[in-house]
Amino acid sequence: DILAAKYKRVMLKISGEALMGDQGFGLHPPTVQRIAKEVKAVHDMGVEICMVIGGGNIFRGLSGSAQGMERTTADYMGMLATVMNALGMQSALEGLGVFTRVISAIRMDEVAEPYIRRRAVRHLEKKRVCIFAAGTGNPYFTTDTAATLRANEMACEAILMGKNGVDGVYDKDPKEHADAVRYDTVTYDDVLAKRLKVMDASAIALARDNNLPLLVFSLDEPGGFKGILSGQGTYTRVQ
Ligand code: UDP
Repeated sequence: DILAAKYKRVMLKISGEALMGDQGFGLHPPTVQRIAKEVKAVHDMGVEICMVIGGGNIFRGLSGSAQGMERTTADYMGMLATVMNALGMQSALEGLGVFTRVISAIRMDEVAEPYIRRRAVRHLEKKRVCIFAAGTGNPYFTTDTAATLRANEMACEAILMGKNGVDGVYDKDPKEHADAVRYDTVTYDDVLAKRLKVMDASAIALARDNNLPLLVFSLDEPGGFKGILSGQGTYTRVQ
């Protein structure tokens, strides 16, 4: 694929909610399979793919603690939720013939590999999709930070942030304001200063400090992920 040259190795970050379809909770296997097809299309271009999937479709630490749970316990539950999502994605990708590894920041050797950086790099070189699970392994962080951290460690050239219902970064919430304007490019500092909803502030700072570009695009369009990597489609570049 001659269009494939734009990036050799990328991080795809999706929220847990991207996997739940119209159910409002949990994993919807046909939706997981649809996203897996998007990933396979990019994998077929020869791009090396890292993935981080959130856990918000199952459990969020903050909402647990808001309801009286101890925060770190609630955060560990959120991290475990991301492992379930990673396994669901692994199953869907392998069903399409794409080799994968789920790599967990929390040891659970029967279920997933432990995170060992050099080993993960080797998987990527062998064209295995690496799904990084359990976030950073630390409470008080998010999967956005995990995606940025792993993207740096794996020397990804960009983070691709697949969104639902929105095709980039807007100056205000496009679902509430008809006159919201999408940025083609925006700086990390502007995202922080204007509190634009892209990733949480620590993830933004980590990407900024390491010059890691972030491409925010819509996961709703079939072929959207491949399109972005081929230089097509609409998206916002944060840099
Ligand atoms: N989490 C955590 N540390 C991490 C990553 C995630 O404690 O490094 C917990 C946190 O409680 C978070 C939950 O896991 O609410 C699910 O992740 P996130 O909210 O980022 O998922 P998303 O919104 O992307 O679905």
